[in-house]
Amino acid sequence: MELWQRILGSSIRQPEDLARLVPGIDVNAIKMVTGTYPMFINPYYLSLLQNPQDPIGRQCIPALAEVVTDEQTTADPLSEESDSPVPCLVHRYPDRVLFQVSSQCAMNCRFCTRKRKVGTDWTITSEMRRNAIDYIANHPEVRDVIISGGDPFLLTDETIDGLLQAIRAIPHVEIVRIGTRTPAVLPQRITPHLVSILKKYHPLFINVHFEHPRELTPAACLALSRLADAGIPLGNQSVLLAGVNDAPGVFVELNRKLLANRVRPYYMYQADLVEGTNHFRTTVATGMRIMRELRGNTSGLAVPQYVIDAPGGGGKIPVLPEETSCYDGRQTVLTNYQGRHFTYSDPELTAVPDGSMKRRARKKAPPDLLQPPTRSRIQRRRRAG
Ligand code: SF4
Repeated sequence: MELWQRILGSSIRQPEDLARLVPGIDVNAIKMVTGTYPMFINPYYLSLLQNPQDPIGRQCIPALAEVVTDEQTTADPLSEESDSPVPCLVHRYPDRVLFQVSSQCAMNCRFCTRKRKVGTDWTITSEMRRNAIDYIANHPEVRDVIISGGDPFLLTDETIDGLLQAIRAIPHVEIVRIGTRTPAVLPQRITPHLVSILKKYHPLFINVHFEHPRELTPAACLALSRLADAGIPLGNQSVLLAGVNDAPGVFVELNRKLLANRVRPYYMYQADLVEGTNHFRTTVATGMRIMRELRGNTSGLAVPQYVIDAPGGGGKIPVLPEETSCYDGRQTVLTNYQGRHFTYSDPELTAVPDGSMKRRARKKAPPDLLQPPTRSRIQRRRRAG
């Protein structure tokens, strides 16, 4: 048995076991939650904890708020089930599919979008995986396969090898991406042997999932360097989580550290409207503030796209601070992170088929266009169409 498997084997599932290791937790409150949403914390991740309410504890220790009902959230807000033509495969966008290959995770994250499934009796069988591969093979429009779960790296090396080989054998699949949280929550999983398998299947991209700078331990950094040394481009997806990473400066530090470890911040998600996770949700204004903070305090390479995965299966939609730009079809007023305004004009001339240039038709700009894009001006311009 490998080290990562031994660590997983010692994971904590029972509230009483957790209480022995983390003094001060409310065993009865945790029991009220785990009947609905099971707990699973591996000892590596628990070793990062300083107190139950810190950003590590909030991500792994069940909270009574999970079983408080509310009217805004649902079990499957992204409508994944209705976009699944075969079990364990979501086909929402024309050219790409999300292939859920594993039902296991190295930890049950309390904020998980698939909370309805993770840690329950949800199982993905090898037959389901085979059917999903057949579906991909029979759909030539699919050029991008995102391998997800659960966590794909909870499968054995042999299974991962077989899966990648089968997907790579489909001629129309151009890109394979893997989404995994193991570098953050069980970095021991990124063994030299696993990496030697992955590097056979380029072009392969990996999106990791770090939520807080404290997750970037020496073990996590070693895992990331193994993947990067294998030539695998690394991106990070974080979810904006109240009490975890919504404090000023946390995302700046996280993304700087990720970049220093050759991980490009990719997405910052607004938390989904998932049942049992309402206490993690922040306002969109918080996300916008963090984006401004990132733009002002770190390099563009460390600035992810801020997106909302639209409820009801609308897909990922980028969100920008609303005062960032204002465009009237001719000129754009831009506001930088310091609140200073700049104007960018479209070209006055336009090319015609004979190769010469002609002047573009002039359009009268609204009188206040070059004024700073205050909230009332933005609203006025929107009303004017
Ligand atoms: S590792 Fe990912 S899929 Fe698993 S519980 Fe955490 S967020 Fe959910």
